[in-house]
Amino acid sequence: MSNEVYVIGCGAAGMSAAIMAAQKGARVTVLEGMKSPGKKLLLTGNGRCNLSNTDPDIASRYRSDTTRSPEKFTQSVFSRFSVSDTLTFLSSAGILTSARGEYLYPRCMQAQAVVELLSARMKELGVRVRFDTKVLSLRSPGSSDGKWQIITQGWTYSADRVILCAGSRAYPATGSDGSGYELASSCGHTIMPVVPALTALVTEEHFLRGASGDRTLSSVTLTAGERSYSEQGELQWTDQGISGIVVFNLSRYAARALAEGLQVHASIDLFPDMSEDELRSLLSSLPGNSEGIVTSSSVRGLLPVRLRDALFASGALRQKKNVSFPDTDTALRLFRHLKLTISGVRSYDQAQICAGGIYLSEVNEDTLESKLCPGLYFAGEILDIDGPCGGYNLQWAWSSGALAGMNAAR
Ligand SMILES: Cc1cc2nc3c(=O)[nH]c(=O)nc-3n(C[C@H](O)[C@H](O)[C@H](O)COP(=O)(O)OP(=O)(O)OC[C@H]3O[C@@H](n4cnc5c(N)ncnc54)[C@H](O)[C@@H]3O)c2cc1C
Repeated sequence: MSNEVYVIGCGAAGMSAAIMAAQKGARVTVLEGMKSPGKKLLLTGNGRCNLSNTDPDIASRYRSDTTRSPEKFTQSVFSRFSVSDTLTFLSSAGILTSARGEYLYPRCMQAQAVVELLSARMKELGVRVRFDTKVLSLRSPGSSDGKWQIITQGWTYSADRVILCAGSRAYPATGSDGSGYELASSCGHTIMPVVPALTALVTEEHFLRGASGDRTLSSVTLTAGERSYSEQGELQWTDQGISGIVVFNLSRYAARALAEGLQVHASIDLFPDMSEDELRSLLSSLPGNSEGIVTSSSVRGLLPVRLRDALFASGALRQKKNVSFPDTDTALRLFRHLKLTISGVRSYDQAQICAGGIYLSEVNEDTLESKLCPGLYFAGEILDIDGPCGGYNLQWAWSSGALAGMNAAR
């Protein structure tokens, strides 16, 4: 007789798991707390759904807070269900993709189509989906019938296998309210406390709030205790601090360090594409800069106006009182090493993902089955794995979901 597989959560990982388990012959039911599928998926890529990435070294880009080298784990998953397998899987549901650089999107550039087509594929395969059905607790098989008990508000379901794809705590309005961690922990799993990730940072430097709306090509180096992390790309200045993909990719480190009580700083190089000598000679040669002084009007073509005004209005560029303009060395130092104190990260309501989750050491990397509770599988963001911006997190959801689904159906 085929396995009765229950999937908890109808997000990207849950839909992938349900489709693969059904394709392998299992009888599949998805239990979803919200009234409709893929609420978070609809928001991805600003509604365009950056669903994967062509990065040839994709497995090495993920981070974990409980495993020093999560690559062994991700490599194991991707070797069993790769980006190419994902594209075949998506196209069998009618989702064709197109690339923008390394980023992959559905050809129609609409997340709505991805959700609709995956839902249609589940229906075609006979997957039953119960919406408005939040799972309240999970009981591992007792000795009598060997079945899992899945308890919801109005009903208790029995299952041979359970795949937990309840997501994280990020964007709780989409249904991922963190209850999945409680379900896993009630089965004996250890959870690395989560922090918001892929989100903006809050800084203490109020004088820079005036630069809100400006964007600069920047290299950002985050330091927290002994550790430092760098990213280069477009930085966005906001009314609370800094944002943009460079900042999003660093935010997991800042959030974790702040949670550990460490001081966190960001050093910003506003001219990462120039050497120190090149910038020095450029500043000296600009019209209006004579006798080693850098005037605000001279750098009008180098910095966006609000950022320039905020920097020149602040004391940061004045090396002495009563001196209106900095000398070249002071300006150079500030433009290359603008130091900010990070006082916080934006809340879960604005974070794309969470860092932390179920300890990888408690999950079989070949099957995604729990090492503690046979018959229980995990996929997606609920695991202690997180990727950078660029389609990596959805790719993780597709691959881990598919692998868990295939194995749960066996
Ligand atoms: C605004 C935004 C933009 C993003 N853009 C991108 C992007 O372009 N590319 C990319 O790769 N990633 C992006 N991400 C991240 C990506 O969306 C997630 O990593 C991915 O969707 C996680 O999939 P998941 O299935 O693990 O979790 P989720 O999509 O969160 O799905 C979990 C599901 O489980 C349900 N659930 C939770 N608890 C229970 C329970 N107790 N009982 C029943 N159901 C439950 C929830 O309602 C939800 O439907 C973005 C995220 C956000 C918030």
